[in-house]
Amino acid sequence: MLVVGARDVPVRSGDAGRLARPRRVGKLSAGSTRGGFVAPRVKCAPVTAIPGEFAPPARLLLGPGPSEVHPRVLRAMSAPLVGHLDPAFIAMMEEVKALLRFVFATENTLTFPVSGTGSAGMEACIVNLVEPGDEVVVGVNGVFGTRMADVIERAGGVAVRVEAPWGRVVRPEQVEAALRKCRRPKLVALVHAETSTGAWQPLPDAARLAHEHGALFLADCVTSLGGAPVEVDRWGIDAAYSGTQKCLSCPPGLAPITFGPRALAALGKRTTRVQSWYLDLTLLSQYWGEERVYHHTAPISMNYALREALRLVAEEGLEARFARHGKNHEALAAGLGALGLALAAEEGHRLPMLNAVTVPDGVDEARVRTRLLAEHGIEIGGGLGPMKGKVWRIGLMGESSRRAHVLTVLAALEDALRAEGRRVPPGAALAAAQSVYAA
Ligand code: PLP
Repeated sequence: MLVVGARDVPVRSGDAGRLARPRRVGKLSAGSTRGGFVAPRVKCAPVTAIPGEFAPPARLLLGPGPSEVHPRVLRAMSAPLVGHLDPAFIAMMEEVKALLRFVFATENTLTFPVSGTGSAGMEACIVNLVEPGDEVVVGVNGVFGTRMADVIERAGGVAVRVEAPWGRVVRPEQVEAALRKCRRPKLVALVHAETSTGAWQPLPDAARLAHEHGALFLADCVTSLGGAPVEVDRWGIDAAYSGTQKCLSCPPGLAPITFGPRALAALGKRTTRVQSWYLDLTLLSQYWGEERVYHHTAPISMNYALREALRLVAEEGLEARFARHGKNHEALAAGLGALGLALAAEEGHRLPMLNAVTVPDGVDEARVRTRLLAEHGIEIGGGLGPMKGKVWRIGLMGESSRRAHVLTVLAALEDALRAEGRRVPPGAALAAAQSVYAA
């Protein structure tokens, strides 16, 4: 038992952006006696101050994720816990599954949120579908295709990389050529929305080609789900995964996945054990399916949050939501153009929810981001890999995709560019964006 000494002072919450004042404590001792119970003495590291309550600064999240979260979702997270096998929780799990089927546009029974972030969804799909020696055609045109190839190889698969320059999409001819090179391709895997570059990868042709060659089709929908159409059944996607912190506007922590009949059949035909116990879908489906067998303790509050975020998506309607993302992207692009800024992804394949913006010569990429954060409270992202220092990434995902936020970030960028010594016509960015909204 720890006994806090006599020198405590009350915790005073700090202003937004600062930590509440740490509480000074006196000697912490162990081994006290209370009511006859002798607590064991604990040898612990000396503690001189307990940090104050964390008071996050006010931020507008317009980066590559996490995105802004609706207050209803935050409220849902603060609801009291129930057990992960409580009938009320089980009933709620069914609602989450039904709402996920709605956003994934699928009737797949095996549709549920894996515990973990988007990368857990990626691993779950790959380790369940790929056995040692399996050939997997994988599109590599950014960070997340590269990550997929890495996970495929860690699962013992043979990654047959189909490369495209960062910012461009993989062409169906490339996928077909790679499939022809394989002896017996097991899977084709593509990233629908490449968050590192802003490229919007078309999926249906690649899915068709995969099937023509007897392979399955896997799609990374981490950034697209809830912000652009993802039509699992109509497009012939056999397995897909996503994350909660992008266009679903929920905190990071769950990875919705869906497995169709062909993917389930492949799972049933495995000759080797899935290398990950935690992500073994056969085990997980016994908890998320009828049997309700304990596997691991589901993150209760995250599931509350996801349910609320999905309710918000359903209330808005998918088409209205996609139209909102499209319009705000158009307005942002017009405003950026007026500032003399260009989008980095190839024309005709630009994502509505993630805008990679080329940093003009003579402008310090990091300094602009720092200024936006420090002076305007706006978070945007920088480039990754070969795009580091060369692009900004402005996310308009879910709750972040709002007209007010577009106008705010354009005004802040104008200010930051002027501070960098660029000549920018005052108000031109806002006028260009407004003309999109007025049209
Ligand atoms: N795939 C894509 C396209 C992503 O954008 C991300 C994250 O940004 C991931 C996978 C990995 O998700 P997480 O960072 O939530 O693990």
